Amino acid sequence: MAQKPRLSWNRQTLRPRHRFATSQGGVTEKQTIVVRLEHEGVVGLGEVAPSKLYGQTLESSEAALGGMAELIGNDPFRIESIIASCLGNFDDQRAAIGGLDSALHDWAARRWGVPVWRILGLDRPSVRTTFTIGVAEPDETRQKVDEALAAGFTALKVKVGAERDHETLSMIRSRFGGALFLDANEAWTPGEARRRIADLARYRPTMIEQPLARADWEHLRGLRDLGVAPIFVDESCQRPADVLRLANAVDGVNIKFTKCGGIREALRMIWLARGLGLKTMLGCFVSSSLAIAPALSIASLVDYCDLDGALLLADDPFDGIARDGSVISLGGLPGLGVSPAGAALKSHT
Ligand SMILES: [Mg+2]
Repeated sequence: MAQKPRLSWNRQTLRPRHRFATSQGGVTEKQTIVVRLEHEGVVGLGEVAPSKLYGQTLESSEAALGGMAELIGNDPFRIESIIASCLGNFDDQRAAIGGLDSALHDWAARRWGVPVWRILGLDRPSVRTTFTIGVAEPDETRQKVDEALAAGFTALKVKVGAERDHETLSMIRSRFGGALFLDANEAWTPGEARRRIADLARYRPTMIEQPLARADWEHLRGLRDLGVAPIFVDESCQRPADVLRLANAVDGVNIKFTKCGGIREALRMIWLARGLGLKTMLGCFVSSSLAIAPALSIASLVDYCDLDGALLLADDPFDGIARDGSVISLGGLPGLGVSPAGAALKSHT
């Protein structure tokens, strides 16, 4: 009798180059989960980057993976129905579903010997990503900006919502004239947001993300009407149904696999958003290239990419994504196009 697909997972430790902070707090070291699906001699990998912002932990993700292993059945090519069963049973653990979804796509594409982007019928991914400057002391922020500019980045994403926003943004604008994305991570009340956004106009932002608390959808439209910059939501928009409900309140949505559950759900959100006239963005959390590759595989479909999660690391355990300045791309390797780097291979076997 043929063997059933085997699902396993292990944690990996990631070290950001700098302490990474937003208006919600910071991290100096982070663990994610590498998911491994083995069947018929082929191994597919995916990464789970759980976020406590969405009620996900390493433990809750591992518990969900344990339950999802039962739902794979004998045929891992049935990605759509496997993911539908996972969403039906583990709706609140979408980071884990995203890891399995990635491993299934990687497995299927490797089994066929083609890249994931090709089995999806898409162009070879080669897109500009923003590079994120986290909240930090002025000297450290200046150093991060100089490093980013020296590395050729032409789009920066800056976390705002701190007392010294003006100091930071003036310093950045004195050095950098390119695309500037601002993310407040739910920092402001509606009144504050109106004042702050009007004030931010002088820095010519490309967009402003998540100015209000995630549950406050009511005041978003007023901020959009200020006409300073397109208003995007991130924390407010987690799943396909949220795109529908936010359609008349914002200009765009930031879609992340940790929130929505992988390639399948992200594609549904992108098509819904486009149909409703919304701009789309793919974002990420601090993670290795294994979590970036599935998002990059569908990145030719969106307006903006903020896929720098692995670029913020001191030492990425996965190889395969090429970077030239701000442009990140995948080649023609089978599957997701990334593999464990030499050093990581030793520590994971
Ligand atoms: Mg954000």
